[in-house]
Amino acid sequence: MAEQWEWAAGASPAKIRRMDNAKTFFITGVSSGFGRAIAEAALAAGHTVIGTVRDARAADDFERRGLGRAHARQLDVTALDQVAPLAAEVEAQIGPVDVVINNAGYGHEGILEESPLDAMRRQFEVNVFGAVAVMKAFVPVMRQRRRGHLINITSMGGTITMPGIAYYCGSKFALEGISETLAQEMKPFGVWVTAVAPGSFRTDWAGRSMVRSERAIADYDALFDPIRQARIDKSGRQLGDPAKAAQAILTLVELAEPPEQLLLGSDALTLVRAKLEARLAGMARWEGLTRSTDGD
Ligand code: NAP
Repeated sequence: MAEQWEWAAGASPAKIRRMDNAKTFFITGVSSGFGRAIAEAALAAGHTVIGTVRDARAADDFERRGLGRAHARQLDVTALDQVAPLAAEVEAQIGPVDVVINNAGYGHEGILEESPLDAMRRQFEVNVFGAVAVMKAFVPVMRQRRRGHLINITSMGGTITMPGIAYYCGSKFALEGISETLAQEMKPFGVWVTAVAPGSFRTDWAGRSMVRSERAIADYDALFDPIRQARIDKSGRQLGDPAKAAQAILTLVELAEPPEQLLLGSDALTLVRAKLEARLAGMARWEGLTRSTDGD
């Protein structure tokens, strides 16, 4: 991944298109994957990026290659009491944040019966509570300024499901619901909220970042072993290109009226469309029973 930063850093400032509408981004988890790709694209487009990372080496790396407009901050998003002070510090030191991207997150994989509740708690602490803490830290200033864009990286797994990722899907369904609700609450103030739901992309998600519960119950072998193996085999060769996702997000932040949800990737489009069509068909099939509970 280093070459990509070289590409950004190697371009002379004169070659970097300094946009009249240069924005300040706050992105969680810029050490790899989507966060890194979005940060690179935003920097190359002339924006300022405050990027959070979890260790000092990643912080140095981010700032060194960032054209003087990359500001690293160390944050584990589960340190909930550090989030609001960090938001206040960057607003004071660097300036008003225009775009917040809740990207930090990971996937837990495991059959529900085999996966301890602590694994679920950790999954929700990072993917849900961490993201909400970041939203809550920036909502007051954005509401008062009457502008801003909060972007939550959810997943197609925030709408579709499959065996072996119950805790992950649960966390992304939760983030989708929270994001959509907040979009309605913030709209009167001119603050946009978008859930960006990617399909499968070439990041570290299914590699070093994934937390996998150990197999224990042979009854699930036939269902789950092929799914686990396929995910391992596909890691690094998924359909989606994070650099193209980053360009789509740069387009998203320029829209006059950004959507409440944006799918990324044709796999996400196909699978989510099929899920919603099946949901509508199920609603039609059981409509009589559904309506049977209304009072006179
Ligand atoms: P990735 O390459 O593994 O990147 C994950 C990033 O999140 C890393 O920077 C990581 O930091 C950071 N992070 C993880 N836990 C954190 C915590 N507790 N506090 C702060 N930072 C933390 O994977 P990715 O695919 O880019 O993931 C980014 C987001 O996209 C996640 O929310 C993921 O669920 C979502 N997503 C991914 C896909 C996909 O196919 N790749 C699809 C749909 C949604 P470290 O380097 O310190 O670990």
